[in-house]
Amino acid sequence: MSYYYGELNYVQIQEAIDKNSVIILPIGTTEEHGKHLPVETDAMIAKYVGDKLGAACQEAGIPVLVMRTIHYGFSMSVVRKWPGCPNINTRTFMDYIYSMVESLIKEGFRKIVLLTCHGNHDSLLRTVMREIADAHNVYIMTLAPFALAKDTYERLKKDPEGDIHGGEYETSCMLHIAPELVDTSAYTNVDAIRCNTPLRGPVSTWGLQKTQTGLFGDPTYATAELGKACLEAAVEKGVEYIKAYYEHNEQS
Ligand SMILES: [Zn+2]
Repeated sequence: MSYYYGELNYVQIQEAIDKNSVIILPIGTTEEHGKHLPVETDAMIAKYVGDKLGAACQEAGIPVLVMRTIHYGFSMSVVRKWPGCPNINTRTFMDYIYSMVESLIKEGFRKIVLLTCHGNHDSLLRTVMREIADAHNVYIMTLAPFALAKDTYERLKKDPEGDIHGGEYETSCMLHIAPELVDTSAYTNVDAIRCNTPLRGPVSTWGLQKTQTGLFGDPTYATAELGKACLEAAVEKGVEYIKAYYEHNEQS
């Protein structure tokens, strides 16, 4: 049976609810990613990882459904200087996701995973997670492929400073997922990260260094092999978390 929620009829969806199936909602966005990557990069990575997690969960015997990827969300104005960033403000975005999650809970789902593939969404989605818990006593999960792949990326990366936006990591992922959409002739290292200060983390990295081309990282280090390794690691780790979440009995 398909793991796509949208391909089932309501009888099959009721069966999935009765099995306490896990729902995965991949969430990307559409925003500029420099001259070499498509604006749907985050959404494409979200869809790819969501699909792979769906297949891997099925393989592991975890009942799972994957929803269609959310393609639009919130981007800070620093990237909206370039075209390609249709934007949803923070509160509208949070209300939209909250409303969707709440409706899934009302259908009867209790294990819901937000797969977040865009840094500007992390805190917003974790706030939604807490609001849902307060209102419904249902604890949803947020997973980020970049965080799941962190150990693998740190081990294999060549860029000493790493990648925030459109650099080695994301370009490598896209070289694996859709190499035909990566314009390798447009690579530039002018926005390689140079702000390796203790403020990285406590202060938004976008406020520590000006971007000239809309990037925050160096794509010249990217390889399809690195992308494949990171994405496989994200799926492998993701299934471990989802399995533990599925098997965890809620507190009474
Ligand atoms: Zn991105």
